[in-house]
Amino acid sequence: SIASSDSDKDSPDAKQSVPEDSINVVIRCRPLSQKEIEAHDASVVTFPGGGQILLSGLDSIIHGDNGPKTKQFSFNVVFEPRAQQPDVFLYSGMTRLVQMAIEGFSTTCFCYGQTGSGKTHTLTGPPGMFNRKKPIFLSPFCSQFNRKKPPDPLHPDHGIIFRSFLYLFSLLQDRQDVHYVLKATFLEIYNEKVIDLLNNTRRSLPVRWSKKSRSFFVENLFTVDCEELDDLLAVLEEGMRNRSVGAHAMNDVSSRSHTMLTISITSEQLMDNGVYITKAGKINFVDLAGSEMTKKTLSEGKTLREANNINKSLMVLGYCISSLSDPKKRGGHIPYRDSKLTKLLADSLAGSGVTLMIATISPALSNISESLNTLRYAARAKRIRTKPIIVMALIKRTNYSH
Ligand code: ADP
Ligand code: MG
Repeated sequence: SIASSDSDKDSPDAKQSVPEDSINVVIRCRPLSQKEIEAHDASVVTFPGGGQILLSGLDSIIHGDNGPKTKQFSFNVVFEPRAQQPDVFLYSGMTRLVQMAIEGFSTTCFCYGQTGSGKTHTLTGPPGMFNRKKPIFLSPFCSQFNRKKPPDPLHPDHGIIFRSFLYLFSLLQDRQDVHYVLKATFLEIYNEKVIDLLNNTRRSLPVRWSKKSRSFFVENLFTVDCEELDDLLAVLEEGMRNRSVGAHAMNDVSSRSHTMLTISITSEQLMDNGVYITKAGKINFVDLAGSEMTKKTLSEGKTLREANNINKSLMVLGYCISSLSDPKKRGGHIPYRDSKLTKLLADSLAGSGVTLMIATISPALSNISESLNTLRYAARAKRIRTKPIIVMALIKRTNYSH
């Protein structure tokens, strides 16, 4: 894991694996927006139940007499427009991710969908949920920031991230026998540059390979030790603030950039035989660039190299997902190394981690081709098989002098 690369712990010497699993893919369809209602945009998505989702009105984009008018997809869970934020947290499988991260697994929750479909809403809530103007001066050591008023924990619009934090702390409180260390980082990938959202110099940071942890990591990323819930919230707030500051300076940045908030959870438990077991788990929350970006870059007639960066990460993620879902394709080669985002997500996608993909769609006829693309992409991701492993170290310590 990233966290263990700078620790003085022994390198991983034990791997514990759990039965084969697949990527958990859920769909969330937002309600028609006020604007869409006023424009008399029709809703083309219906929900027959049992994880089914039906897209109708396809004759508006697929012409010809033989084309299908409707298409049905099936997923683990489908959230209808009336689903509320707590429903999405409770029934998406996110609680399992939090539990597994505590047990030492690498977990990732990512939102995929066109701009305006509800990715940020699902992760953090509606615009203005975290609308701080003033910066929070974070310290690498917890509880030393200057913010006075914490966000209201009972606000109904909190997204999956805030709810995961609450749940994480409730679980840790029940495990007084284990010592946990939490660290948080928050970054943005824009034009293939990694920018630290907790340190607003907006300088690009290098992504390097760590031999020890056998994964990629971002060098010099500002890392905050989080002892209390409030520390995690300060990280979330400050990162969101820096993101919107950046979005203001550069046009359209939020639809073109990816953000990744990582909570690493290291645990140390003393066993009866005097051996300490340490485990390093983590949760990545990834808010991807708008899925329409892939097509836009390609349709400008540029090659992947020329399109340089605008959305290389998103395209390569697509290639990785399609190669993973059909290992016979491309001779089993998964091009993780071809983009910053896929390097950082490799250990989750490679099948050693646990991944939740939330694909967000709009119900409107005017967005039907994007919704179709998103559902197809999600259907492909569902076919990926994974074999999660716990990375842990057994450390035998000589007695401390007491
Ligand atoms: P994205 O991040 O995918 O570009 P947003 O999350 O910003 O999209 O959503 C666009 C707008 O739609 C926001 O105002 C958001 O609050 C609203 N919205 C998105 N999903 C929902 C939902 N499920 N319920 C109510 N409003 C939503
Ligand atoms: Mg967004």
